[in-house]
Amino acid sequence: MSAVLIKNVGLMLSGDVAQPVLEADSVIVADGLIQEVGKGLSAPQGAAVIDAGGCALTPGLIDSHCHVVLGDWTPRQQMQNFLDSSLHGGVTTAISAGEVHLPGRPKDPLGAKCLAILAAKSWANLRPGGMKVLGGALILEKGLTEADIEECAQAGVKVVGEVGLGSVKDPDEAAEMVAWAKARGMTVMMHTGGTSIPGSSVVGPEQIIKVKPSVASHINGGPTAVSLEGAKAIIDQTDIAVEIVQCGNMLRATQVARYIDETKQWGRLIFGNDAPSGTGVVTLGILRNMALVASQGGVAPELCVCMATGNTAKLYGLNRGVIAPGKEADLVFMDTPMGSPGKDLLEALAEGDTPGISIIMVDGKVVAAKSRNTPPAVRQAKVL
Ligand SMILES: [Zn+2]
Repeated sequence: MSAVLIKNVGLMLSGDVAQPVLEADSVIVADGLIQEVGKGLSAPQGAAVIDAGGCALTPGLIDSHCHVVLGDWTPRQQMQNFLDSSLHGGVTTAISAGEVHLPGRPKDPLGAKCLAILAAKSWANLRPGGMKVLGGALILEKGLTEADIEECAQAGVKVVGEVGLGSVKDPDEAAEMVAWAKARGMTVMMHTGGTSIPGSSVVGPEQIIKVKPSVASHINGGPTAVSLEGAKAIIDQTDIAVEIVQCGNMLRATQVARYIDETKQWGRLIFGNDAPSGTGVVTLGILRNMALVASQGGVAPELCVCMATGNTAKLYGLNRGVIAPGKEADLVFMDTPMGSPGKDLLEALAEGDTPGISIIMVDGKVVAAKSRNTPPAVRQAKVL
């Protein structure tokens, strides 16, 4: 059994909106899973010890909207190792929103199905820098049948990529396919905002309500947002998750966050990057969403951590994103960055500062001893 004791945690941020701050300073990890969370826990025999030095511990961040293709390469921006670099922004899980940037992407039903299955199987075997990628997001193309979707589900495809990116644009046609996918336990994303759907200039509340996806992707635009009234209609007239992305409209992001806060629906909001995209690759994007929503969106910083972790894990049925016994030990040691007026992680986020990260763990193993991308943290964790 490989065990790790994490001690001297200054702030234990659970990732669970029901109880975002835990009265605890230590965690015991065994065989990749969190075994115990408590105060003053002692090391099991033979355990490695990590001294958090008083910094905060959060679940590994989850990027709910990443346009991966195959391998750690993006044809959209011709960059290598962008996922490894995002890991150094605290992202230990990325979720594909559709492998739409594949050069020569097939748009027939067989090609769409094969691409989703290939990507799902490939990403199940590949962890860039240690990052887990939930890849293989089926793009809905005209002609896909219920049997095709069943075959995808049997082959391990768990996500339908952004509805609207493929040839299926008509809400009624999309709704039927989405129902087939949801009946097989798939989580369905739907592009929200500026794009062209026949008879309409944007994907607004009417289309979202009709199609019934699991999440209104980039409710703040990808990158052009629906109106604030449109965003509120989606929130009020559905019970689906809503997503704020870094590569979207910042005004709408903060307005949506304020509305979620006013209506106390913190469990519905999730954070993504929507990168690689025309905007680029933003390796600190999820941290920046946390800082934006905490400083400008009026949401308590500890709840912003949940939007980057536990909320997304719950939506996608992942056994991670929360610091609790039995969960996968994907963990990030963060603190206020040097020079911030914020005295700890929560104050730094409320100031709008990007946190500093030291250790990053996946399945209880240290995959980075110190982030190469964030500003340096004031308090840094060390492996003893
Ligand atoms: Zn989109």
